[in-house]
Amino acid sequence: MARTDNDTWDLASSVGATATVVAMQRAVATRGPRPLIYDPYAEPLVSAVGVDAFTRCARGEIDTSGTAFDVQRMSDGIAARTKYFDDFFADAAAAGIRQVVILASGLDARAYRLRWPADTVVYELDQPQVIAFKTGVLADQGAVPAVEHRPIGIDLRDDWPSALRAAGFDPTRPTAWIAEGLLVYLPPEAQDRLLDNITALSAAGSRIAAENTGTITPEELQKMADQMSAAQQQWQDKGIDGFDAVGQIDVTELFYAGERTETAAFLADSGWDVRLHKNSELYARYGLGEPTDGLSPFGDITYLTAVLG
Ligand code: SAM
Repeated sequence: MARTDNDTWDLASSVGATATVVAMQRAVATRGPRPLIYDPYAEPLVSAVGVDAFTRCARGEIDTSGTAFDVQRMSDGIAARTKYFDDFFADAAAAGIRQVVILASGLDARAYRLRWPADTVVYELDQPQVIAFKTGVLADQGAVPAVEHRPIGIDLRDDWPSALRAAGFDPTRPTAWIAEGLLVYLPPEAQDRLLDNITALSAAGSRIAAENTGTITPEELQKMADQMSAAQQQWQDKGIDGFDAVGQIDVTELFYAGERTETAAFLADSGWDVRLHKNSELYARYGLGEPTDGLSPFGDITYLTAVLG
């Protein structure tokens, strides 16, 4: 379904389903022979969402090897991304930052699975249904956050800074922010507004990590949609059934194409000292070999880490 300015979702639909797909890949990566990441919450969370194909994939019950949507190979990319953001938080903690904001947290369980200094406060924001689902499932499972954890259910196109302050966020203290897998799902002007809000709420010494997201062309989106249908055909040819749910995530309808100021340039203009890290660099750093083309039409994804001077 096409996006609208105030659309909402749960974890089985629209943008919410992308959070489940990412968690599914963290579950696969966690079970790998030499796991780069360890996320024991990913598989139970994905199973609780209740989409059969995602659950079976998370449990390693579907063999997608040899197809363009090879979950095992693609999980390397998510493992590298997860490790990058995990390391970002470890570095921020080592630098003395004790206030953390995870934007668009989806099924991210960092508040539960990372080792945080005792006096850290972790805020996380996502749509209300997403936050309620994750905290509810983890509580039912007896999982306890490893840190002071303040989840906030709100749309990031709304006045989230007020909600963050109301939850106790202190803009006079340096903050470590992440926006992982978020920006492509925001209209370009909402991305700019989000970054402006982050800057306004950031004391000197604050840090941010995100994807470096620039203009997405309609041609790039079409290429991705074509790759998705080709992959789906390959699954059918391999006799993989029950996998349609993945094919129903139509990125041409979820992403926002159009002119967009690149995240790195926008942040640099706002006083942040930005460092860029290509996906291929992360693959080399983490011993993953060469990144696969997979289903990304955007070439080599680039991540960024920035510090406010
Ligand atoms: N960061 C998580 C991770 O890497 O596992 C989730 C990434 S998932 C690809 C995208 C997330 O962005 C979803 O959880 C979705 O709900 C959230 N999101 C996208 N647009 C949003 C908005 N306008 N308000 C709140 N959350 C949003």
